[in-house]
Amino acid sequence: MAYQTTNPYNEKADKPFSECKPEQLEAKLEAAVTCYDSWRATSFSQRKSILTRAAALMRERSEQLAGLITLEMGKRIAESRGEVALSAAIIDYYAEHAERFLAPEKLPTKKGEAILESSPIGVLFGVEPWNYPYYQIVRFAAPNLMAGNVVMVKHASNVPQCALAFEQLMADAGMPAGAYTNLFISKDQVAQVIDDPRIRGVALTGSEAAGAVVAARAGQNLKKTTMELGGSDAFIVLEDADLDLAVKHAVIGRMGNTGQACTASKRFIVVESMAEQFLSRFKAALEQLKPGDPMDEKTTMGPLSSETALTNLLDQVKRARANGASVVVGGERLEHSGFFMQPTILSDVDAGNPVYKEEFFGPVAMFFQVPDEDAAVHLANDSPFGLGGSVFTKDIERGKRVAGRIETGMVFINAALSSSPELPFGGIKNSGYGRELSAAGIQEFVNKKLIRVA
Ligand code: NDP
Repeated sequence: MAYQTTNPYNEKADKPFSECKPEQLEAKLEAAVTCYDSWRATSFSQRKSILTRAAALMRERSEQLAGLITLEMGKRIAESRGEVALSAAIIDYYAEHAERFLAPEKLPTKKGEAILESSPIGVLFGVEPWNYPYYQIVRFAAPNLMAGNVVMVKHASNVPQCALAFEQLMADAGMPAGAYTNLFISKDQVAQVIDDPRIRGVALTGSEAAGAVVAARAGQNLKKTTMELGGSDAFIVLEDADLDLAVKHAVIGRMGNTGQACTASKRFIVVESMAEQFLSRFKAALEQLKPGDPMDEKTTMGPLSSETALTNLLDQVKRARANGASVVVGGERLEHSGFFMQPTILSDVDAGNPVYKEEFFGPVAMFFQVPDEDAAVHLANDSPFGLGGSVFTKDIERGKRVAGRIETGMVFINAALSSSPELPFGGIKNSGYGRELSAAGIQEFVNKKLIRVA
């Protein structure tokens, strides 16, 4: 697929960017390797001053950067500004704390002295998605640059202007050439880069399909990977939940970013005594949403990121219906220019329905009614995914007990999932492995080297 912007609101395409020629790719790889030699030798405070400037520049350029997100993938402008602010906060977080996170550690040992050092490992390669065009690359780039690694990024082909704006920002912040490199490359070239012995580690955020291809290739080369893949997070409402709060977060959780988030709430599992009320209020709230131009502050629902995303989602809903699901609301393309889908709730999705175990990457909620807490937990865990989840109850201790039984990497009590620099992000099962953000996120691509004084 060509690297090209297509505005999802008016369907207007810009001129495509050309892909890297073989000799250009080789020059970029060499520049990264050369840069690594000097970058790894810089001090934490030198790296911190550049990264801190990058965060400040992100805030200064917020309107331009946010506008590009909205132009390329249709995110509502307020959410785009929020993404820019969060990305800047992540950069600042690692600039501030990396030295402490990676400080040498004295290990207790019977004899002599043992020290565990954390050293960089070299040039890393990231394959990143379009749904949060800056946040996704920052989660990978900021900790690794602070750790002394250098990074090369293949961004999604539908957000090339965001990719270039971020690369320019890093250069303007004073990053030496080769420390952060954007690559407009084909899938064959992705394989070639993974195979290249100069690349020491690979990170991917995206679909299970892309993750399986990239992880297999890296595995053949015995290279460490982290995988942040899809999810089908359960949103459990127990009989003692605050219903106003649950409905509010159901809308945030399912409709944020027009539903295109790995940690979006996707399966709404509600205990019987609350089910009818929850469903009617959730439906009413979705019917209030105002689709429109994502650049317009008054719009409360943006388009999907691409025509393919819309077609895939409509096809999933069609298959769900053909296999017995009922449509509570929505289910169709919106009569509107742009890639708009009606906010949709499906019910009667039984375990034999093929969509039961699939991820809906857009504004489509699956609703389930269950007799009690045990049944809710059982249903939540009956998924190939294991990314996040939410539990709504007024009894916090009960919420923690239920959270402990849910097989995912993250569970929020009385809230839809959200992301913060200081909290670990990642999943289990088909949602991938490894963690990003927090102290954990900077440990993935460092050499935990033992130094032993006998
Ligand atoms: P993809 O997983 O296809 O794209 C993510 C990144 O991987 C892009 O840079 C893409 O490049 C690249 N990629 C895809 N296939 C390969 C491959 N075979 N070899 C190398 N690189 C590859 O996501 P889509 O945009 O197609 O979305 C499809 C589904 O992915 C969604 O429905 C959702 O389930 C999931 N997804 C999950 C995300 C998350 O946050 N975990 C984010 C986005 C999507 P290119 O753009 O050039 O194809």
